[in-house]
Amino acid sequence: MRLRTYKSQGLVLRQYTLGEADRILSILTPNMGKVRVVAKSVRRPQSKLRGHLDLTNIVEFSASYGRNLDIVTEAQVRDDHPHIRSDLSLLSQAVYVCELADSFAEERSPSRDLYQLATVTLDLLPDSEDVWLVSRWFESRLLEVAGFKPQLESCVECGSELQPDDHMLDLAAGGVLCPQCRAYSIGARVHITESAMRVLRHLQRSRRFRDVGSPNIGRKIKNQVEGVHTRYIRAILERSLKSEEFIRRVAESEPYYDSGGGAASSSSV
Ligand SMILES: [Zn+2]
Repeated sequence: MRLRTYKSQGLVLRQYTLGEADRILSILTPNMGKVRVVAKSVRRPQSKLRGHLDLTNIVEFSASYGRNLDIVTEAQVRDDHPHIRSDLSLLSQAVYVCELADSFAEERSPSRDLYQLATVTLDLLPDSEDVWLVSRWFESRLLEVAGFKPQLESCVECGSELQPDDHMLDLAAGGVLCPQCRAYSIGARVHITESAMRVLRHLQRSRRFRDVGSPNIGRKIKNQVEGVHTRYIRAILERSLKSEEFIRRVAESEPYYDSGGGAASSSSV
């Protein structure tokens, strides 16, 4: 017999207001994938759920199965990432991580790898000296975990080895084309410089963030790498992400942030 309620840990990925005081939440869980739940009266000051189910929070929650959406019955925050909340530029990156995880997560399908990746990334953000690198590593790992890892090592069409050179990523084919196959390709493509390719491959081979090390990547190459990821992700999702605009506005309001190797490059892609 199916239970009427369930209990899980989860990461609050997205929230939408509903009616006068309710909220619909998208929560990523390790065992059930993404669940969409209603938190009734959560926006009322006296609600016992209030403050526990905020965006980017890790929560323990209970919910009862509903016909369309499940109903949250209890919630207890486990980690509200105070170091991220106190810094607007970190918060914009954390919101981006959550929105991207939400876009790729499947409902009701176990997603331990994605859950671990998203929560590890939120822990890395305040501790890392290069927030840009954390975000690009997250994107690279996310693409692999979600089954969209771009083929960068050999030609996606014929499998031939690629010489060190500038290359073209075929967005629909999900990989790089050799010069011969490029001549016959008609799909949307993104140019990848030789230097950007080195960084993209390094990110792809780095299963853990500490494998990335501290590479010295110039601003120009960073913009190129970020541009490739952004174009490829948009092509998969067939849309832009809302938080891209949030990151851009935060970066523009903090001009000094650029020197820290942060998110300022978002404005150029
Ligand atoms: Zn080829």
